[in-house]
Amino acid sequence: MAQVTFDCPHCHSKNMTTTVTGFVVVPYEAITAQQIAPFAVGFGACSGCWSPIGFRFTSTEHKEWSEHVRFADYFQRAAKAEHNITAGFIRAKVVHTPNTNATVPDHLPPTVEKAFKSAERNYVAEDGEDAAAMLYRRAIDIAIREKHPEIKGNLALRIEKLVGLGLLPPSMKSWSDQIRLIGNGGAHEPEGVTKEELKPMRGFTEAFLRYFITIPFEVALARGEIDERGMPVQQNSPTVSG
Ligand SMILES: [Zn+2]
Repeated sequence: MAQVTFDCPHCHSKNMTTTVTGFVVVPYEAITAQQIAPFAVGFGACSGCWSPIGFRFTSTEHKEWSEHVRFADYFQRAAKAEHNITAGFIRAKVVHTPNTNATVPDHLPPTVEKAFKSAERNYVAEDGEDAAAMLYRRAIDIAIREKHPEIKGNLALRIEKLVGLGLLPPSMKSWSDQIRLIGNGGAHEPEGVTKEELKPMRGFTEAFLRYFITIPFEVALARGEIDERGMPVQQNSPTVSG
């Protein structure tokens, strides 16, 4: 069977190679009904993390739906050959399975987004609880430091100050257990956070980032105060004073 090279969507290893261990050429009826380029799907495994990888195979030479038979013939020979499946006309694309995680709130600064995404990866990872807790905390910490560096104190205190200033809704304060869990860090690493504790902590972090960053951003955008990149918009039109 042919080999295929890919970047793993699970462990993010680059240039991994797997054998195409199984494939299905999408039937003629499905291709003609939609009049799309013929394609096949195939399967392999990542030898870095042993996650299953799904591929969608197309051909640079058989792009018309009417070429289905020639595509099927060519693909089956390529898949059974001993070389890389992309050596000829076949191209492979990893099919990403839908992400069941909480979606990343919009408009996060890159540093905050990186910490949050990294927390999300650890959330689903085996034994990733402590790392996830630390990273959720980091996402909130960076978000506050970037937007309101003048607010000092440990993280729990800073969250309470933000509520006091009306920058977070009062209801956030009622999640006191989460604030305590998030805030108890400071210089210390979280100690043995359980999956049960982590779930509401994740919910708190996501809500925090939406209230603190996403919503104010979208309000300012709607008012025309900032552009899509978050840059202040120069007010060219004369303002009426008085
Ligand atoms: Zn992998």
